[in-house]
Amino acid sequence: MRAVVVRPPVPGVAVEEVPAPVLGPGAIRVAVRECGVCGTDHDVADGKYGRAPEGDAYLILGHENLGEVIEVAPEASGFRAGDLVVATVRRGCGICRFCLSGRSDFCETGRFTERGISGAHGYMADEYVEIPPYLVRVDSALTPVAVLLEPLSVVEKAIAQGQAVLDRKEPTPGHSRSAAPRALVAGTGAIGMLAAFALRARGYDVVAVDRHGEDTPAAVLLRRIGAQHTNVSEGLGAVRDSAFDLVIEATGSVALDLHLAEMLGPNGVLVLTGIPDPAATPISVAAGPLFREVVLGNRAIVGSVNANRADFESGLEDLARFESRWPGACASIISARRPLEEVASVLAEHVGGAMKTVLTVRRGSTQGRSGR
Ligand SMILES: [Zn+2]
Ligand SMILES: [Zn+2]
Repeated sequence: MRAVVVRPPVPGVAVEEVPAPVLGPGAIRVAVRECGVCGTDHDVADGKYGRAPEGDAYLILGHENLGEVIEVAPEASGFRAGDLVVATVRRGCGICRFCLSGRSDFCETGRFTERGISGAHGYMADEYVEIPPYLVRVDSALTPVAVLLEPLSVVEKAIAQGQAVLDRKEPTPGHSRSAAPRALVAGTGAIGMLAAFALRARGYDVVAVDRHGEDTPAAVLLRRIGAQHTNVSEGLGAVRDSAFDLVIEATGSVALDLHLAEMLGPNGVLVLTGIPDPAATPISVAAGPLFREVVLGNRAIVGSVNANRADFESGLEDLARFESRWPGACASIISARRPLEEVASVLAEHVGGAMKTVLTVRRGSTQGRSGR
């Protein structure tokens, strides 16, 4: 089968013929339809990160996925040929209490694998094989947006983490909230945009910031869902409001992270999802005033990574909610669809203002082609 192959730490990516995976007992064979490309894929392809599976000389790239079940082993249950599925990414260490209870996103040993990233093959290939606990069935009505479910699961977890901290002060008997809660989203890539959608759907007033003007597809889309867009290329001072309840960071810029903490209102929470470059230039900050405000205002800074099955399931509910509230809007987060063969050029080009590029692997039988 065709697969997008990398050999970290050697930089480079190529489409190669590799053996198709063997369908073991209890497993399901999935034909991949689409794979999203994100910053992690760039890092793995650049050799900065990633590891081939034990005993293999290469790693199949790709973790944001949508596929169609094509073969079900006799012992496997719950799925039929033709079902649309999204596979989760992380596989637990098998040792710690979180991995043993299906919450490998909170793994304490770090000895997990991640499909398409570290120690397990990914989804940028004609096929993959997986067992049912790691597959989430998707309603065919969500086909145009389902490849966004994996990045959305990361957002679902991040918001749930922030909300859990915010909820420590609720309910407040006899004093209901007079105004909508307020969120700031930093970054308008797919993660930031999905966060804006999810927060709007939860009743937040949302301000999303990036370093672009008002005419980008992201800015247009934000207005469509009733969120405000602000260009902060001259600094966060351009955001006229402050005192946000929840700030979701999706840029990976450490310099920005520290300033985002200053945007929190009393009792507010900053959730960091962008992964900073460990080699980023050191910066100095006036830590006294910053941490003073954290303490005096009960503010919290929380890191959030990956997601578990529950986050994929709440993501599915959100995708349906987005479609009914803003028909077609979520699909326009996908800036372009390109054939799998073009993966190297997709990874090489960086389009400013683009939200998500998706690689098309196989057209669905419902989209005009059938058979294998
Ligand atoms: Zn990703
Ligand atoms: Zn673990």
